[in-house]
Amino acid sequence: MPPVRVLVDMDGVLADFEASFLRLYRSRHPQLPYVALDERRGFSVEAQYRQLNPGLAADFVRNIYGSPNFFLDLVPIPGAVEAMQEMFSLNETEVFICTSPILKYEYCVKEKYAWVEKHLGPQFVQRLVMSRDKTIVSADLLIDDKVDIKGVEPNPSWEHIVFTCWHNRHTELEPHRRRLESWSDDWKAIIDGKRRE
Ligand SMILES: [Mg+2]
Repeated sequence: MPPVRVLVDMDGVLADFEASFLRLYRSRHPQLPYVALDERRGFSVEAQYRQLNPGLAADFVRNIYGSPNFFLDLVPIPGAVEAMQEMFSLNETEVFICTSPILKYEYCVKEKYAWVEKHLGPQFVQRLVMSRDKTIVSADLLIDDKVDIKGVEPNPSWEHIVFTCWHNRHTELEPHRRRLESWSDDWKAIIDGKRRE
């Protein structure tokens, strides 16, 4: 039997993008209104901040996560590091990290590699896939917090498991779609289920 191949997203799944964004935003702009984590709705931080404050300059929000060390300093999501090490050691399972760098890539790309090496170790540096389009990457499962993942391939090979995050916890999914609520949720059962399909 071929192994089950799992793609795991980084921001919002392994690394806590939302909490770091809010911390840095508030420290740089203490006078401005902000979106509390439990008020977050929708994938785009920028879109929600623009709604809150339509006068914001085009790159105002992007400059926060485009700053040096932003991606490097992201704190791991609870349980993510342990789950990845365990997934790596599972028989008949291939795990890769699949992440889309931001377009202001100057620091992001390098820091994503450094983050992976720092928190997950060199064996995962070899398993880091960066693609703005995840639909063209072939796997059985994709664990990702972005609810709508679109790309050139209309029928991706993977089943998308929605990882619950601040911005998607209120999003209603179609009945056939599955979630992983956190890393203490039973991700192994999802992989085992795929193995038996
Ligand atoms: Mg993500």
